[in-house]
Amino acid sequence: MVAGGGPAGATIAHQLAGFGYRVVLIEKRRFPRHQIGESLTPSILPLLDFLGVRTQVEQAGFLRMAGHSVCWGSSLPRTAHYSSDQHWRGFQSVRADFDLILLNHARQAGVQVMEGQPVRDVRPDGEHGVTVRYGSGERIRATFCVDATGHAGIYARQHLRQRDSVFQTLALTGYWQNAANPPGVDFANTLLEAYEDGMVWSVPLHTGERNVTLLVDWRHSRTIKRAGLQRFYIDELRKAIYVPGFLADAHLPHPPQVFDASLYTARQFVAGRTLLVGDAGLFIDPLSSEGVRKAMASAITGAVVVNTILQRPAMRSQAAELYEAGQRDTYDSHYQQSARYYAEEGRWPDRPFWQYRCLRLEPDADPAAPQQPSAAFSPFDSQPVSHLMVMPDLRIQEKPVIEGSYVELRPAVVTPRYPRGLRFLSGVNVPTLLRYVQTQCAVPDILEAYQRHPDGRRNSPAQVRQVLAQLYQEGLLRPISPDESQSD
Ligand SMILES: Cc1cc2nc3c(=O)[nH]c(=O)nc-3n(C[C@H](O)[C@H](O)[C@H](O)COP(=O)(O)OP(=O)(O)OC[C@H]3O[C@@H](n4cnc5c(N)ncnc54)[C@H](O)[C@@H]3O)c2cc1C
Repeated sequence: MVAGGGPAGATIAHQLAGFGYRVVLIEKRRFPRHQIGESLTPSILPLLDFLGVRTQVEQAGFLRMAGHSVCWGSSLPRTAHYSSDQHWRGFQSVRADFDLILLNHARQAGVQVMEGQPVRDVRPDGEHGVTVRYGSGERIRATFCVDATGHAGIYARQHLRQRDSVFQTLALTGYWQNAANPPGVDFANTLLEAYEDGMVWSVPLHTGERNVTLLVDWRHSRTIKRAGLQRFYIDELRKAIYVPGFLADAHLPHPPQVFDASLYTARQFVAGRTLLVGDAGLFIDPLSSEGVRKAMASAITGAVVVNTILQRPAMRSQAAELYEAGQRDTYDSHYQQSARYYAEEGRWPDRPFWQYRCLRLEPDADPAAPQQPSAAFSPFDSQPVSHLMVMPDLRIQEKPVIEGSYVELRPAVVTPRYPRGLRFLSGVNVPTLLRYVQTQCAVPDILEAYQRHPDGRRNSPAQVRQVLAQLYQEGLLRPISPDESQSD
């Protein structure tokens, strides 16, 4: 049973139905329903492909943006594109339509969808089930319950949710008519502007509206009550320069709405026969435009975890461990990314909004340091390395990984950088490749041996070479002379 029919609920229901389960999805509202969160970066495309729903989304008529234009650290806008040729584009979706596509896709997979029925509570029912009360008191017994109720967090809020004490943000959203757009290929870009007391975020929609959202500190709640929402929204917007420039001839036909955009995570994501997916489990900074992708990704992994718990109970703790660690990593990496981004805006260090948000960097996090080693860097190009050996302290351990529709234990490389184990890099099976490094040493021999392995046939020699370069760069390999390799 799945509670909530947003992107997370529809995705996990679709996947579980595909595994052969009878799935009931109970949704409080009737679709299509309005939802904030329109900007979907191109990182969502692989997930739409995976679910087999990309064509429907592409045919929905949404504007396609090539990147974003931001005033950050300067009043001058800077534009960044998702790809240099500007072909890699995201969607400025109307969420009512996008979410309906996903929900209908779940229906087509056999999911029974009940709309207009709020789930009221979820209670464990013995060891192997849950009882869910919904609608006007009806009950349903299920072997498993997924909480996909987003911010409402029908189960998450009972005792699992942990709100961040600092990133507490209110979003004030207005949909403007007759707004202007940037020229040329950037017409549909996401716009972002920092100002002394917050940020303005804006996207155009194919309906002709422009969403203009202010993100301000939650401590403004009392001022908003005193001034009135619309007055506060308009006054605050006047503090910005770049985004209001697109609103010169525009008007706001309906009053703005307010949303809680504060960050939170969960103490636990799998509890008994209940699992949290999407925003029910954790909420990341809306600036990332990754909330929907993150929700769908958690649902795809979550379906495998539920399937493993139900079909292979002996693997329950490993499946739960994989899911918990993945969700915690998602939250932590987005959190640090946000903190680094806020730290780059140094114009108003004394204003409360920026003071709070710039203090959250972990002590050893260097804002300028790249998080991932550059994939383009190849030490083999600049400084030829002919023979390699694996660092003696490297460990290969059995770790839970996803194999098809189950969580299984498989060898993975464990290092301080990859405490959960590294199995694949750019599609290359790292433990297998390292075993060949241990036996072959000479780079051409390693490449040839790996290419003969069934996993190796999927990768080009250039890809494998690039992965060797990355492992070298990360300190998992070291170069040796040909003589050293023969003496080993
Ligand atoms: C201001 C703001 C801006 C954002 N901008 C972006 C953006 O640009 N791009 C992006 O990717 N993300 C953005 N997000 C985040 C994004 O909207 C969410 O991450 C995404 O909607 C999460 O999907 P979900 O399925 O987990 O939850 P939701 O989409 O919230 O779906 C939850 C569903 O559960 C239903 N429900 C609630 N309670 C119950 C109940 N008791 N019983 C049954 N059903 C229930 C709701 O009606 C809803 O349909 C933004 C969020 C905010 C607040």
